[in-house]
Amino acid sequence: MTSTHLVVIGAGPGGYSAAFLAADLGMQVTLIDLEPVPGGVCLLRGCIPSKALLHVAKVIDESKDAVNWGVTFGKPKIDLDRVRAWKNKVVEDHTGGLAGLAKRRKVRYVQGRARFRSAHSLDVETSGGTESISFTNAVIATGSSPARLPGFPESPLLLDSTSALEVEQVPKRLLVVGGGYIGMELGTVYAALGSAVTVVEMMPGLLPGVDPDLVRPLAKRVESRFETAHLETKVASISETKNGLEGTFEGEKTGEETFDRVLVSVGRKPVTSGLGLETTSIRPDDRGFIPVDGLRRTSEANIFAVGDVVGEPMLAHKASHEGRTAVEVMAGKPAAFEPAAIPAVVFTDPEIAWAGLTESEAKTRGLSVSVAKFPWAASGRASTLDRHDGVTKLVIDPETERVLGVGICGPGAGELIAEGVLAIEMAATAKDLELTIHPHPTLSETVMEAAMAFYGTATSIYRPRRK
Ligand code: NAD
Repeated sequence: MTSTHLVVIGAGPGGYSAAFLAADLGMQVTLIDLEPVPGGVCLLRGCIPSKALLHVAKVIDESKDAVNWGVTFGKPKIDLDRVRAWKNKVVEDHTGGLAGLAKRRKVRYVQGRARFRSAHSLDVETSGGTESISFTNAVIATGSSPARLPGFPESPLLLDSTSALEVEQVPKRLLVVGGGYIGMELGTVYAALGSAVTVVEMMPGLLPGVDPDLVRPLAKRVESRFETAHLETKVASISETKNGLEGTFEGEKTGEETFDRVLVSVGRKPVTSGLGLETTSIRPDDRGFIPVDGLRRTSEANIFAVGDVVGEPMLAHKASHEGRTAVEVMAGKPAAFEPAAIPAVVFTDPEIAWAGLTESEAKTRGLSVSVAKFPWAASGRASTLDRHDGVTKLVIDPETERVLGVGICGPGAGELIAEGVLAIEMAATAKDLELTIHPHPTLSETVMEAAMAFYGTATSIYRPRRK
C-alpha cells in the first residue's frame, strides 16, 4: 500500500485545480482518472472541443454576413477530417500542457478506476493491476455524464454531446432533443456546417431559466439559422427506420418526422457509481449528488467533493473554485465556498451570459429590484460589428443601488460578463459602474451605459428616469 496526503479522484477542472493547489501548498498528491491524460469532460469532450467547433461555426456564419459589408465569399468547402483534426489538436495541446504542469508540480498521475475501501484508503484498478493507496484527505471530483431518455434505442444514429463532438458527418436533418446549453451550442455548430437543425424543447422557451429578454435575440437568430424550434414539445419516442430515426412529438407540435441523426441533450447526471461510497458514510441524495457543506466537506471529515458531482450549476469554473476551496480548508486556511455570483455563458451566436441575481429569480422570490437596460442598437461598437441585436442589463437594489445581477446577450457576452461578476463580488453600486471610464468604442461601454440608464442619464439613449 502506498500512502499520500491527498488523493483526488477525477482530473477535470475541479480535480486538477485541487491537485495543483495542494501540490503548490506542499502536499503530496495523487491524481486519479480513467483517461490517460488530465482534463476531464471539459477538456476532452466538453467546453474546449465545443468552443473550437463554435469558432469554426462563427467564421462560416460571418463569411455569409460579410456580403452586407461588400465582401462576398464563396460557399465554404468543409473538410470534416481537418476540422476534426484541428479540434483534436486544440484538445491535445491543452491536455499535454496540463500533464506537464502536473509533472512539474510532482503530482502523481494514475490512470485507473478508483474505488474506496474505507474513508482512509482506496484501490485503483490500473492496466498493470490493482494499487492500494492510503490517504489523509480525498477529493471526489468525478463529474457528470449525459442523461439518457428512457425507451430511446441504442443506435449509432443517436448522438450525445460526446459523439456529436466527433462530427463524424454532417447530417442532412438533425433533431436536437433539449434546447438547453448543449442543444443550442451544438445545434449552432451543425447548422453552420450545413445541417437542417430542428430543436425540440419541452419548456415554453429556449434555455429555460434564463431571463427571456436575454434569450429573445438568440431565438430570433435561430429562426433564420435553424430549420425550426418546437417549444412546449417532447420527443415521446425514437425508432430506427430504414430512412433514419423517426421521432414522435407530443405537445404543441405533434406527429412523426424522420431525421438522419438525433442529438439528445436533456441534462447531465452526477457520476458516483462504482466509487465504493458504501464503504464510507457518504450517501448520494435522491438526485445522485454528494451532499457537502459550505467547505465542500462530505459526511466524512477528511473527504471533500467538488464540481458537477455535488450539484448545479454544472460548470467548470464552479468546480475549479470549489476544488481550490476544499484544498485551502485542508491546509487550515479560513476558506469557504461562498460566491456572490457564478457566471454562466451559453456560447451561441449571440452569446448569452449572466451572473448573480436574474430578473426572473427576483420575480420568483418576490424581491423588489430595478432593472436597467442598454440596447446594443445604441452602441457604436456593436454597429461596427453589424450586430444590433444585443442587450446589457443590470439588476439593481433600488435602496442601496448595489448591482445584484448582470445579464448580457450579444457577441462576446462571455468575455464581458467578467466585469459584472467583479462588480457583484466587490459590492459595486450602479454609480461605481457609471463613474468607471470604459474604453471607446467597445462593447464594454454597454455595461457603463446600462448603469447610466438606471439614473435615466445614459448618453447614447434618451430614456429619462420615471418620476
Ligand atoms: P440543460 O439542462 O442545459 O438543458 C436540457 C434541456 O432539455 C432543458 O431545457 C430541458 O427543459 C430540456 N428537456 C429535458 N427533457 C426533454 C424532453 N424529453 N424533450 C424535450 N426537451 C427536454 O442540459 P444540457 O444542455 O444537456 O447541458 C448539461 C449541462 O452541461 C448544463 O446544465 C451545463 O451545466 C453544462 N454545460 C455548460 C455549457 C457552458 O457553460 N457553456 C455548455 C454545455 C453544457
